Amino acid sequence: MSSVKEAILKGTQVAAEAHKAFRIREIAEPQCRPIDVFAVLDALALPVEFAKLDGLLGACVKLSPGVVGIMVTTERDLHMQRFTAAHELGHFVLEHDGSYDREVRFPGHTKNRDLKEVEADAFAAEFLMPKWLYKAVTKRHGWWAQDRLAIPDNIYQLSLRMAVSYEATCWGLAAHNLAPAHAVKELVDVEPKECKQRALRGARLEDPWADVWIITATDNETAIEAGPTDLVVLDVDEAGGSGYLWDLEAAEHAGFEVVTDERALAFDGSIGGPTRRRVVLKVPPRGTHELRVVHARPWSKRSAPLNTVSVSVSTFGKETQGLLTRPRIGMAAAHH
Ligand SMILES: [Zn+2]
Repeated sequence: MSSVKEAILKGTQVAAEAHKAFRIREIAEPQCRPIDVFAVLDALALPVEFAKLDGLLGACVKLSPGVVGIMVTTERDLHMQRFTAAHELGHFVLEHDGSYDREVRFPGHTKNRDLKEVEADAFAAEFLMPKWLYKAVTKRHGWWAQDRLAIPDNIYQLSLRMAVSYEATCWGLAAHNLAPAHAVKELVDVEPKECKQRALRGARLEDPWADVWIITATDNETAIEAGPTDLVVLDVDEAGGSGYLWDLEAAEHAGFEVVTDERALAFDGSIGGPTRRRVVLKVPPRGTHELRVVHARPWSKRSAPLNTVSVSVSTFGKETQGLLTRPRIGMAAAHH
C-alpha cells in the first residue's frame, strides 16, 4: 500500500515520461502553447467521446479486451474538459482498471481520496501544468517574480494561456512551490469574473462564461486556445508622435471585430510621447485564426514596421456532443 505522497510522485513522474514520449515540451514551450491532451489521446488511438454524462465528469472504460475508450462531459467548459481528459489519460497510462469519475481534483486536495485517483489527479496536473510551462509563460510576459505571481489578473491570464481553470492554476503554483501557501489562498478566493471586469474597463461581456484575453506585444508568435464568445483586449504602446500607428486591417480581415478602440497617454502625458492603444475585439467564429496587427507608418507602406504582434487564435471553445471537432495542431507538428 503506497502513501499519498508516493501516489503523487508516481502520477507526476508518469506525466513527465509522457511529455518526453510525445515531445510535448518541444511543441508547447517555444510558443507557450497549451498542452494538447486530445492530440496525445489521438496518438494513442484512444477514442474520446463527449456526452452529457449523468453525474460524471468523465470515464475511462474498457470497451472490449484491450480496447479502452474515454468519455468526457459536455456540461463543463473547455478547461475542465481538458483536465478531465488528462485525468482519464492518467488512468490509462497508469494501467488502472478504468474509472467512472464524479470528480477530479486539483493539487493539494487528496483528503479521503482513493490512491489511484490521487495518481490520476497528479498525472493530470503535471501533464497540463508542468513547472516548465508556468516558467515559460510567466517569463515571457514578465510575471516571473513572487510579487507578480501574487496578482490575480496575472494568474488569470496565465491560466488562459495554459488552458486550465483559474483555480487549478492557483493550486499548481503551490504544488510547484512558485508561491507561498498564504498567497495561493488569497488568489483562490478571487473570482475570475473580477479579473475579466478589470481587463474590460467598462466594455460589456455578453457571455458571462466567456474569457477576456489581454494580448500585448509579449504574445507575439504564441498560440492561444480561446472560445467563440471570448473577447480580446489588444493592449499595446503606440508611437503616434513618431507617426507609428497600429494597423488593424489584417485582423479585421481575419474576422476580428472592433468593439472599442481607445488611446490613452502613457507615462508623463507629454505631447508627442508614446500612447497606450487599447482595442477590444470580438473573435471570429469557431476555427483557427491569425490575429495580426502591425505597428507602422500608415503613409509609408514600404518602410519597415516598428513591430508586429501575431497570435494564432483557436476559437473552438468547449467540445459538444460527439467526437472531437477541434484540430490537433500540436501532434501534427511533432510528426512532420
Ligand atoms: Zn479517476
